[in-house]
Amino acid sequence: MKDSSKNQGLRKQLVELLGSKGIKDLNVLNAINNIPRQWFMESGLDTFAYEDKAYPIGEEQTISQPYTVAFQTELLNMKPGESVLEIGTGSGYQTCVLIELGFKVYSIERKRTLFKKAELLFRKLKWNPKKLVFGDGYLGLKNNAPYNGIIVTAAAPVVPNKLLEQLSIGGKLVIPIGKKEQIMTKYTRISKIEFNKETFGNFRFVPLLKDTN
Ligand code: SAH
Repeated sequence: MKDSSKNQGLRKQLVELLGSKGIKDLNVLNAINNIPRQWFMESGLDTFAYEDKAYPIGEEQTISQPYTVAFQTELLNMKPGESVLEIGTGSGYQTCVLIELGFKVYSIERKRTLFKKAELLFRKLKWNPKKLVFGDGYLGLKNNAPYNGIIVTAAAPVVPNKLLEQLSIGGKLVIPIGKKEQIMTKYTRISKIEFNKETFGNFRFVPLLKDTN
């Protein structure tokens, strides 16, 4: 796995761009600066790794735009050692950003080929998720719940109740909600039955789909 000085330079520029677009959390910016995004892209597209754009990763899915990764991660506002469940492993890039921040990361992917690919990739990297799971993220991952954070990297038409149920008290769910366009939404669990909801502008994601494939 190679990381050239050219890529390191481009990464610095990307981090500056994310800062200018409003990302303030230095830990998040630092994590982005430390992870070679080209390793998570399809060969042939890797030269675009430091464009602030989403790119295809096969199976009609995309690696999220760096700004979106940074924005969602910043919204989680978690501390090292806390646990996070990611729905939609995809390329594994967002997964890696969460690991670099010191979180215990559980990640679910419903497409078998992407799951296998991410699993193979992580074997070659120094970053390790606690668990990569092939399954339907709509159901969450009950065995390791509750989570301090849950991040959904695909568009949900409505908030899945199972995910709210798997938050710890004080835990946060960051999820884009909507059909054609999505509103980035953050639910904070106040008590067993109360949740605080905040919204953060429009985004575009691939859809969250039920079952596995
Ligand atoms: N975080 C990823 C984003 C990938 S796109 C990255 O930056 O690379 C969203 C991913 O969510 C896709 O890989 C898609 O297959 C997956 N997905 C969609 N519905 C899902 C579900 N119900 N459970 C788990 N993964 C799902």
